[in-house]
Amino acid sequence: MLSSRCRQRLHDGRPTGRQTHSPSTDTADIRGRSEDGLHEYCGVFGIFGADRAADRAYFGLYALQHRGQESAGIVASDGKTLHVRRGMGLVSQVFSPDDFESTLLGDAAIGHNRYSTTGTSDIINAQPVIVQFKSGQIAAAHNGNLTNAAELRRMMEEDGSIFQATTDTEVVVHLIARSKEKTIDAMVVDALSQCEGAFSFVFLTPTQLIAARDPRGFRPLCLGKLDGAAVVASESCALDIMRAERVRDIEPGEVLVIDKDGQRSLRLPEAPCQAKCIFEFIYFSRPDSVIFGENVDKIRRRLGHLLAREAPVDADIVVAVPDSANTAALGYAEESGIGFEIGLIRNHYIGRTFISPRQDERDRDVRVKFNPVVGVLRNKRVVLVEDSIVRGTTLRNLVRLVRSGGAAKVHVRVSSPPIIAPCFYGIDMPTKAELIAANKSLDEIRKFVGADSLEYLSAGKLRKAVDDPENFCMGCFTDHYPAPVPEEFDKEMFGAGSCDQ
Ligand code: 5GP
Ligand code: MG
Repeated sequence: MLSSRCRQRLHDGRPTGRQTHSPSTDTADIRGRSEDGLHEYCGVFGIFGADRAADRAYFGLYALQHRGQESAGIVASDGKTLHVRRGMGLVSQVFSPDDFESTLLGDAAIGHNRYSTTGTSDIINAQPVIVQFKSGQIAAAHNGNLTNAAELRRMMEEDGSIFQATTDTEVVVHLIARSKEKTIDAMVVDALSQCEGAFSFVFLTPTQLIAARDPRGFRPLCLGKLDGAAVVASESCALDIMRAERVRDIEPGEVLVIDKDGQRSLRLPEAPCQAKCIFEFIYFSRPDSVIFGENVDKIRRRLGHLLAREAPVDADIVVAVPDSANTAALGYAEESGIGFEIGLIRNHYIGRTFISPRQDERDRDVRVKFNPVVGVLRNKRVVLVEDSIVRGTTLRNLVRLVRSGGAAKVHVRVSSPPIIAPCFYGIDMPTKAELIAANKSLDEIRKFVGADSLEYLSAGKLRKAVDDPENFCMGCFTDHYPAPVPEEFDKEMFGAGSCDQ
């Protein structure tokens, strides 16, 4: 029942007349986009009722580091006041032992890891955001992307509001502060009811932790317990690290309020359907996490099985592009009967800041990041499994590397369909002009990456990897989005004026 309703509600994000975008469309706006805070993809954590809550938040953020490496922050509550520590860089670089001994005190805390690939790294955009308003203090941390943030912000600025940063999160905090409701939880519901797009939020006041997920449930957020304490996190791996028990997902549209009296759920206005992000399973989440009620390892392995059935090839070894394609490659090996080998080694000690926005620098970066294992690859026909192709640059360099390691053949298999459209909901997918599959045919891509053969998993098979495909957003693969795409995104992501033909 849900599925037919949802399909009817699908919107084509691509306006008529803009289908054929020139690959030469200027890409400089990628930086601007990040500066606008439009593309953030993050990890959030919250805990209430635990001794030294900030210590736990620190470990939670450690486990969520893969979701964001640009900045990290923790806000703790001692029951009366909020205390904050934020900084640029990895969790291990931002906090010092002294922060936990003298600043981040109390039984409740929230934390955030921020992600950004290009553009300014700016402390002003680091989270959690913390403000003082008529009802006291509130801190907020957000994963996702509000599609009407710019509109809301414009409206509030015209009305006299002053913004410090460029993040969606600040917009929400302003909405809360302006709400006419009487209690903080009602104010949060009021504010979030005005937001469109993707959000998994954690809020902290001196006496409450509030966790909320948008009505379509784009981004994951789960609830756990640790002795008497409540824990919320983007992924369950953040619960595992402190041996907290996963209880359930925060439901799409749920606003869970946690305080000394216990937990209660409030609801946001219902969405016509769910739109969980399929890319979480393909790439973003850790395989040891349970998200959307499913084990990531299980789904990712299934992608490998489906790929092996759909795109078999005569070869000697299966090699993954580490780390995100490891599990799918294992699945491919299991299903095909071809042995899995570790043929590429990835250097893990490269921070995100190392990844450069310029194309020629990116080519060099790949060589810094990966090295081939010659003894494994020499004279072998290799199935190289990758989780996704965005621009194609990584893969082109990796195919060269695998050949330089002596491989006789390199057959590339991709455990997701061609990415043909940008993401408006928080995954870092560039403009259409930069998406190789939006601009080149399969054979052109094969030639570009230099592979002997290239096959993707089809969208049809991807749907088979999950039990309820109608409840997933696959916009980046289908160019159909679960909600209308606002005009300003449209201009930015499709390059307005560049290709009206
Ligand atoms: P490409 O070189 O094609 O632009 O990038 C593809 C590679 O980036 C793949 O190895 C994939 O694992 C990874 N990838 C896919 N999506 C994202 C993303 O949103 N952010 C980052 N940092 N990497 C991604
Ligand atoms: Mg990768």
